[in-house]
Amino acid sequence: MDLMSNINEVYKNIEKAAKVSGRTPEEITLIAVSKTKPIELLKEAWECNIRVFGENKVQEVMDKYENIPDASWHFIGKLQKNKVKYIVDKVDLIHSLDNISLAEEINKRADKKGIVVNTLVQINIGDEATKSGIHKDELNSFIEKVKEFNNIKICGLMAIPPKCSKEEARNYFKEMRKLFDHLKCLEDNSMEMKYLSMGMTGDYEVAIEEGSNMVRVGTGIFGERDYLK
Ligand SMILES: *Cc1c(COP(=O)(O)O)cnc(C)c1O
Repeated sequence: MDLMSNINEVYKNIEKAAKVSGRTPEEITLIAVSKTKPIELLKEAWECNIRVFGENKVQEVMDKYENIPDASWHFIGKLQKNKVKYIVDKVDLIHSLDNISLAEEINKRADKKGIVVNTLVQINIGDEATKSGIHKDELNSFIEKVKEFNNIKICGLMAIPPKCSKEEARNYFKEMRKLFDHLKCLEDNSMEMKYLSMGMTGDYEVAIEEGSNMVRVGTGIFGERDYLK
């Protein structure tokens, strides 16, 4: 595997897709999803100009983040309430805010540290029983509740569409874009619709074409993951 050429390829695709949607590649944030990958590989990615890493396990963030001090860490996985305290001041963005008791815990821990935590609300856009995320019909009331927490800022939305073809995924991305645009009318001090986090290795070009400005690419950069190691 050649990390440098993988990364170049991803950047090239991002540029193309950004153009299709009338934007520049600078408007798109690439998150290198480094879960299960060793720190040596992340350091190599850093040398190839990767600045943001996405992780989905609290322990992994804790093990890795001090090794690349200037990197930005994003938490993209299911976050357990009892582990919030370990990462709340280590990650720059939590992509997976998906229930009120989690919001309450993040707020409490952030308050203790005197910080405001940036979050994205995760949407269960395919309405799947096996996936986390807020149902779109409950989004407005969820947001109203989260807005009451002074130490949380809502910075946008995140979604993982159901396993499907790229063209089917496009419809989910379109729907997400509509929700995102709609929420812009409700912006205030506690909410700014800045990031629309959607698109993974299999579909990030389509996601960007439909308005994503934050893509989470793992396999396309680091190769297949081995969960048995
Ligand atoms: C693992 C993961 C990714 C990256 O998936 P790839 O298909 O390897 O690009 C993106 N988002 C989330 C939430 C993930 O858990």
